[in-house]
Amino acid sequence: MTRTGLSKGARSTPRRTVLISGAGVAGTALAFWLNRYGYAVTVVEKAGALRGGGYPVDVRGTALEVVRRTGILPRLRDAHIDLRRLAFLEGDGSEVASVDPYAVTGGVAGRDLEVRRGDLTGALHAAVRDDVEFLFNESVDTLDQSGDGVDITFRGGGSRTFGMVFGADGLHSRTRKLLFGPEEQFHRYLGYCFAGFTMRNTFGLSREAVMWNAPGLAAALYAVGDDDEVHALLNFAHPEPPVDAFRNPGAERSLVAAVFADAGWQVPGMLAAMDEADDLFFDGVGQIRVPRWSSGRVALVGDAAYAPSFLTGQGSSLALVGAYMLAASLAGRDHAAGFAAYEHDTRGFVTVNQELVGAGSATLFPTTARALEERNDMLRHLVARPPAEGRPAHSALTLPAFEPLV
Ligand SMILES: Cc1cc2nc3c(=O)[nH]c(=O)nc-3n(C[C@H](O)[C@H](O)[C@H](O)COP(=O)(O)OP(=O)(O)OC[C@H]3O[C@@H](n4cnc5c(N)ncnc54)[C@H](O)[C@@H]3O)c2cc1C
Repeated sequence: MTRTGLSKGARSTPRRTVLISGAGVAGTALAFWLNRYGYAVTVVEKAGALRGGGYPVDVRGTALEVVRRTGILPRLRDAHIDLRRLAFLEGDGSEVASVDPYAVTGGVAGRDLEVRRGDLTGALHAAVRDDVEFLFNESVDTLDQSGDGVDITFRGGGSRTFGMVFGADGLHSRTRKLLFGPEEQFHRYLGYCFAGFTMRNTFGLSREAVMWNAPGLAAALYAVGDDDEVHALLNFAHPEPPVDAFRNPGAERSLVAAVFADAGWQVPGMLAAMDEADDLFFDGVGQIRVPRWSSGRVALVGDAAYAPSFLTGQGSSLALVGAYMLAASLAGRDHAAGFAAYEHDTRGFVTVNQELVGAGSATLFPTTARALEERNDMLRHLVARPPAEGRPAHSALTLPAFEPLV
């Protein structure tokens, strides 16, 4: 726990207390902004510590303004991965095309950021940890709104009452389940599954990514720096979600191994590395679409409310913008009016970004031989540089000013 005194200035009234579940991108960003607006913030995170490193995430468009206002833009610029090249390979391992990564992602060179997820959460946490109570190895067990506040019992024992509670606990959010019920109602499966893990960089890759494709299959190696590790991704089309495999590591590994059994290039070595990996992350690719982002005094933010899937590359940016908008919407309003304003002002931005990808239609992961050939033709003719403005969806919201209450 890192708790310090109240924010600047003497106060005659006690600060309003809020609880955030999850210290990921959305949770730490929301903690920062709610603290700036004068709330006494507690964050519970089920992991034992903030995770460092990790896979690369993007910060683009409107989200860049959020990190600038948070004061962490210089630190993130230092952590920028600056990927030099993205190479695409045929099934036999020969090169289709080697392109400027921004030409594929729609990002803007020299402006948009790509950093390891842990570098982003680390910068946000460092900006707020002296003013906010962080409880690691802790999570919400029960949540009761029948009184004047939200009564919480914690898994680790103990109970407290908060004025508001926020679910920033990711795609498989427990807060969302407690509020609205099982995930299946809100999860829009996009027809793919993926396994991500790290492995030794025996390929000599440095700040570059290489992707091998066959119809319905993709294997990628992503070197975020010059070190001896690469991020490996095995993505495959699977029309229905393999529900029996989820959260059963043995079954997940067997499914991936069976799907990629006949694949060439470096895939056999990747499968062997996946067997040894202690950081294997397997999931279906999907979005979260919830009709309402709040109920009573509890609201959702980030992936918990509107995960766009990694196919859009917009998950971290939506989490950052959503956190800023949620805190700003509450300024000078009670929870009901604040949550309504948050949803009214943010949903359009979320929707245009979620719509960047449809089921089974990801450009990077064609599912048929014909679609793959068309994708490869497109890559061969790709203009060297993307337009300087990036995708309109990335900047489709103008942030309100930060107006601290006096
Ligand atoms: C393999 C992969 C690649 C990705 N690539 C990209 C990319 O290129 N670009 C991009 O922008 N985004 C990418 N994303 C998505 C991005 O990571 C998320 O969209 C973004 O981090 C959303 O942030 P969040 O804080 O809402 O959720 P998360 O980052 O998932 O954070 C949720 C936090 O809540 C904690 N938590 C969960 N349950 C509980 C609980 N019950 N109690 C307490 N704490 C809990 C978790 O431990 C975690 O710390 C990728 C995701 C994956 C998995």
